Amino acid sequence: MKLKQAVSFTLQGLHQLLWPAVCINCSESICETDRSLCPDCWGQLINCTGGDYCTRCGRDTSRYAILGGVCPDCQGREFHFDQIARSGVYKVGESLPQMIVAFKNGRTELDSTLGFLANSALQGSGFVSAIELFVPVPLHWSRRLIRGYNQSFVLVKKLKHPTAKISTDLVRIRRTKFQPTMASPAARARNVAGAFAVREGHSFAGRKICLVDDIKTTGATLNECAKILKQAGASKVFALVLAIAGQNIS
Ligand SMILES: [Zn+2]
Ligand SMILES: [Zn+2]
Repeated sequence: MKLKQAVSFTLQGLHQLLWPAVCINCSESICETDRSLCPDCWGQLINCTGGDYCTRCGRDTSRYAILGGVCPDCQGREFHFDQIARSGVYKVGESLPQMIVAFKNGRTELDSTLGFLANSALQGSGFVSAIELFVPVPLHWSRRLIRGYNQSFVLVKKLKHPTAKISTDLVRIRRTKFQPTMASPAARARNVAGAFAVREGHSFAGRKICLVDDIKTTGATLNECAKILKQAGASKVFALVLAIAGQNIS
C-alpha cells in the first residue's frame, strides 16, 4: 500500500471516530447514533408536524375551528377523497420540504426517515384500520424513466400495515405540466383532468383505498385520482401525504 493511501485511510477512520454520524438532511454532525437527523433538523420537523389539521384538506387549523373533523374552509365543499392524513406542512427552507425535494432528486435513502413520518401520520389518521389497498399516485412512464423511480411508490413500500396490499393499477396516461405553487385551483384541476386511468383487471371494486403522494398543493391530483378510483368501484378513498403546501390557497 502506498503511503498516500494509508494516510487517507487513517484520516477516514479518524473522521468516523470523531464524527460518528451526520444529519441525513443537512449533513451536520450528530452524536446520538439512534437518530439520523441533527437537533436543528429535528426541531424544524417537530415544528411543522405538530399542529392540528383538517381531515378534508390537511391544512393547519385550530382544533376549536374544526366542526365534524372539517375546517371552516371545507364546510360544504365536495372532494372525491373521503379523508386525508398528512405528516406536516410545507414550509420553504425547513427540513421536511428539503428532504422531500432531495427524495425526488435521487436521494432514495431518505425513505426511512420519510417513511417514519408517513407511518406516524397514518397511525394517527383514524382510517388506518379500514385500508385494504395502498395506491401510490402514479407518474407518467416518461417521467419515471427520467427519474428512475416513482417517489410515491418508494414511500408506499415503507408503510407498515398488517393486511393492506399495494396496487399499481392506477396509471397516468397523459403527461401533465409542472404547475407553479401559485397556479389557481381551477388551472390545476384542468391540468390533471383525464390524466389518470385504471388498468384492466384491477381490483379496486368495493375496496377501501389509501392514495399516497409526497405533496398536496390544491389537491387537484389527489381529487382526480380519487374520482377515477371511485368510478372503478372503490367504496372509500383516503389520502396520505408527507406535506401540505399552499397553506393559503383555497
Ligand atoms: Zn440537520
Ligand atoms: Zn379543510
